[in-house]
Amino acid sequence: MRLSRLWQWLSGERTAIKEPSRLYAAEHGIVKSHISENALTVLSTLQQNGFHAYLVGGSVRDLLMGITPKDFDIATNARPEQVKKLFRHCRLIGKRFRLAHVVFGRDIIEVATFRKAASKAKHHFRKNGHGMLVSDNHYGRIQHDVLRRDFTVNALYYNALDEVVIDYVDGVNDLMHGRFRIMGNPEVRYREDPVRMLRAIRLMSKLNLQPESATEKAIPELASLLSEISSTRLFEELLKMLYGGQALANVKLMYRYNLLQYMLPFTSAIMSKHGKLSHLDQLGLENTDNRINRGMSINPAFLLSVLLWSSVKDREQGFRAQKHRPSTAFRMAADAVLSNQLRVTSIPKRITLMIMEIWRMQYPLETLRHQQAMTLVQHKRFRAAYDFLILRAESGENLKEIADWWTQYQNVDAFEREAMVLVLSNSNPSIENCR
Ligand code: ATP
Ligand code: MG
Repeated sequence: MRLSRLWQWLSGERTAIKEPSRLYAAEHGIVKSHISENALTVLSTLQQNGFHAYLVGGSVRDLLMGITPKDFDIATNARPEQVKKLFRHCRLIGKRFRLAHVVFGRDIIEVATFRKAASKAKHHFRKNGHGMLVSDNHYGRIQHDVLRRDFTVNALYYNALDEVVIDYVDGVNDLMHGRFRIMGNPEVRYREDPVRMLRAIRLMSKLNLQPESATEKAIPELASLLSEISSTRLFEELLKMLYGGQALANVKLMYRYNLLQYMLPFTSAIMSKHGKLSHLDQLGLENTDNRINRGMSINPAFLLSVLLWSSVKDREQGFRAQKHRPSTAFRMAADAVLSNQLRVTSIPKRITLMIMEIWRMQYPLETLRHQQAMTLVQHKRFRAAYDFLILRAESGENLKEIADWWTQYQNVDAFEREAMVLVLSNSNPSIENCR
């Protein structure tokens, strides 16, 4: 059978899988109410029009684990133009992958036509000198589509209408046994798209999966390929790493697999020097995970401002030693650290501005001048800057007294606030001059 030979070839020593396993509702236990109405509408519209259509990838994986997926991707044999004709609000996007986005207000369901894996038809794919895919828009059948997926647990298809999971790669078994395997030859697949190494980390920590040895061994060896990836794509991955509720685990894993230096070079350098995260970084990561896991909102600049802070302080010392004025030394340090980070991962201007504001507010918050307290507390970045000050105090900096002062200041009325500032500056003038 052609498919089984292909699979054998792609997977090296691995046993060929001839036919897909089919799991029915009683076996897979997927709760249909976890599937978005919009995804179900797209699936049934496609099927009613004679096409095959399945939920695929992360959504099936998450449904099997009892997690409500955050997005629903659909794979179909309909071509993008055919999909577009079926839906009033549908746009076609992407050059490398031509995809259909079916739009339901703010919800978007992504519909991809089955495609062939790179190794199946080499002449249809363009790779650069490192083996990275730069174009792979060649349509195929579901048996082809399955082979271009990144990991076995992401290569599952679910026909939500008859409630059958289709598994060509033993992915359900892997998921149930906590195993994590890349599809095919790890080196080839990571070379084709080095971002798969980051996706591997994220999935292992999210689902607590144990990588098989070939899947994990290739990562540190090929980590430097990440430097070929655009800074924009790396920033998107960084956001997923930091704001998925597993930031601490992800940062540690990225470090362990040599990937962190291509995402957060400053944090990586500090970890190399001390063999662990700084206390502040550890607290910042835990704090973000806690907020996300409790469903609280987060400021996207906060964690980045934490992770880059100690490098800013180090450089500030350097510039001060060169006799720059403190405010100039601080500005130069902050600019240098941010622009270095921006070379690795782009960061939208709106976020770099927030990071700068959080940093810039630290000095006035620490030193607390009478006339500034009211202005500071009304600043749009006060909350993040205050949270940052608290974290610095918790991490061991000598800021507990002033951090407590700000906590109390926010909880009293205007009259008491005025009194607090007067009492503090009269009784402890050194606070005004602590730098
Ligand atoms: P998440 O929970 O972050 O959404 P996901 O696996 O669903 O995880 P998506 O980016 O939504 O990630 O991708 C959907 C599916 O597309 C994946 O499950 C996988 O099958 C496939 N896929 C995504 N990125 C790649 C890649 N770089 N290489 C191969 N397949 C990929
Ligand atoms: Mg997804």
